[in-house]
Amino acid sequence: MTDTHDSLSAEAVRELRELLTGKAHLPGDADFGNAAFAWNVAIEHRPLIVVDAVSEGDVLEAVRFANAHDLGIAVQATGHGQPRPCHHAMLIRTGRMDAVAIDPVAKTARFGAGAAWGRINDAAGEHGLAGVSGSSPNVGALGYLMGGGLGLMSRRHGLGVDRVLRFRVVTAQGEAVTASREENPDLFWAIRGGGGSFGVVTEVEIELIEVPEFYGGAAFWSVERAESVFPAYAAWAATLPDAMSTSLHAINFPPVPFVPEPLRGRSMVYVTAAFVGPAEEAERLLAPLRGWEGFEFDTYHPMPYRESACVHNDPVDPLPVSGSGRLLRSFTPDEALELARAISPFASSPHLMLQVRHLQGAIARVDREDSPVGPTREAPFVLHMLGVPTPHNPPEGIEANAQRVFAEIRSFVLQPGPINWVGEGGVSAETMRAVFTDDDWDRLLEIKSRHDPKNRFRFAGIGLVVDAS
Ligand SMILES: Cc1cc2nc3c(=O)[nH]c(=O)nc-3n(C[C@H](O)[C@H](O)[C@H](O)COP(=O)(O)OP(=O)(O)OC[C@H]3O[C@@H](n4cnc5c(N)ncnc54)[C@H](O)[C@@H]3O)c2cc1C
Repeated sequence: MTDTHDSLSAEAVRELRELLTGKAHLPGDADFGNAAFAWNVAIEHRPLIVVDAVSEGDVLEAVRFANAHDLGIAVQATGHGQPRPCHHAMLIRTGRMDAVAIDPVAKTARFGAGAAWGRINDAAGEHGLAGVSGSSPNVGALGYLMGGGLGLMSRRHGLGVDRVLRFRVVTAQGEAVTASREENPDLFWAIRGGGGSFGVVTEVEIELIEVPEFYGGAAFWSVERAESVFPAYAAWAATLPDAMSTSLHAINFPPVPFVPEPLRGRSMVYVTAAFVGPAEEAERLLAPLRGWEGFEFDTYHPMPYRESACVHNDPVDPLPVSGSGRLLRSFTPDEALELARAISPFASSPHLMLQVRHLQGAIARVDREDSPVGPTREAPFVLHMLGVPTPHNPPEGIEANAQRVFAEIRSFVLQPGPINWVGEGGVSAETMRAVFTDDDWDRLLEIKSRHDPKNRFRFAGIGLVVDAS
């Protein structure tokens, strides 16, 4: 379905503005550029209208307006993970709905749709608690959860979706409902991994976990060591307990001031570690890495979980990024060597970074039917490749390189997924469809057709596949 709207009547927009506590921005307004801005600056939204919502009531009004004017709807908290830009439609921003309430007795967090993980973990950390969050505190917690949610402690405590208790959702019909195991269980199932195409979530409640001791950081080698470090990592990772979550990376550090001097402009391999437990045990498990040929230094140390952003040191400032990911069927030392050879010479790669994250542990122990992320529970590792498109490094070249690497290692590639790792901006309908098993796909489609028959939410998750069909 393609929108044909070019503009909205001034009268209709005036009426909407009167109903909103937040704001509505139109092209041409002085603040429209900021309102339509995404963290991933490669995403160029060209909406007909942006609603900067501050409450569930605002979201209800926005969805009713979209229905009345037959508009598609895209939703954005931070703009870290927009699978498609919003064109000729409504963009609902939730960034200002970022209230966080911690219940230290029940060990739960209730937060608004716009809250980023850092805000939640700062509040939870005061009680020795944390959410199963990912590598970046600036990523929106809800967006992360709707795409599966592979966290730093996931091998120990499961995926983010395994800890969700309840969503508040404004459906395409313009109704606010609760989705939990008891109420609207179909929506609850679909949203936990099916992406943002079943309504606008306004509030979330999750279980928190106690994290009395946390240890993490990264160890570094020059990228020339990839052919020995990659296989060594694969052999070592297979021996680790669930309390240890690790990832293997290759990176071309740009020659810019915010990269610390020993790494600036260098191409490196590194291994991150995130351990839930005592420092002595972490150090014992990590000791072998320091003996791998060419080891340069590490940053491993004990820390409160709320400081765990330093494990991956993800970029904070807005950036153009273009990613692609594949779940791996296996990752033996021989296969790790194949991957190292497929990306060589990495220093001249169009990709900035490659990451192989270890899965399994608690992730694999949850029933496959519990949420539509079954393949993530089967796969032992996930591979993600990320590029920074520029005029000299166009997105097509970045994507072609990812596809070449995936083809060269196809004997141990399982499939695209999960949603959080399939990419941004130009995710194809084929790729999005391939994330799900056939059974989950049929169930998602049936739930989608009941809750969003006109496919208003067509810019994310299964909505973009329905849009293409
Ligand atoms: C630097 C970086 C680090 C990352 N680390 C991890 C990681 O460790 N583990 C992991 O699993 N993923 C990770 N990701 C992926 C990330 O979890 C996804 O990109 C996630 O979707 C981002 O959510 P957001 O709210 O920040 O982004 P947004 O772009 O604002 O939203 C992401 C998606 O959620 C939808 N959405 C947002 N709010 C709503 C709403 N209220 N209702 C309905 N739909 C909504 C959007 O339409 C979009 O499809 C990382 C991404 C980046 C860029």
